[in-house]
Amino acid sequence: MLELLEGRELSARSLAERLSIPVREVEDHLTHLVKTVRRHSDKQFLLIPSQCQNCGFVFGQRTRLTPPSRCPQCRSEFISPPRYRILEKNLP
Ligand SMILES: [Zn+2]
Repeated sequence: MLELLEGRELSARSLAERLSIPVREVEDHLTHLVKTVRRHSDKQFLLIPSQCQNCGFVFGQRTRLTPPSRCPQCRSEFISPPRYRILEKNLP
């Protein structure tokens, strides 16, 4: 999963499809992955926040890995899932 997220951003659903495992399991793996990446000083876990497809509200303050169910602004349930990516830090 680490390799999959290096160089591209993927949602939990895309990860599940690529790894042929349930989304629920992907979320468990992601939780562990965040901790693993934190131990690597040369890598950084990036969470690209969910966005409401109806009004454009961005869930920027949200740190949970799972998608929100409803927009607090317009109550729409049409929300793009958060995506994840692992960045290589360019250390001197
Ligand atoms: Zn909205």
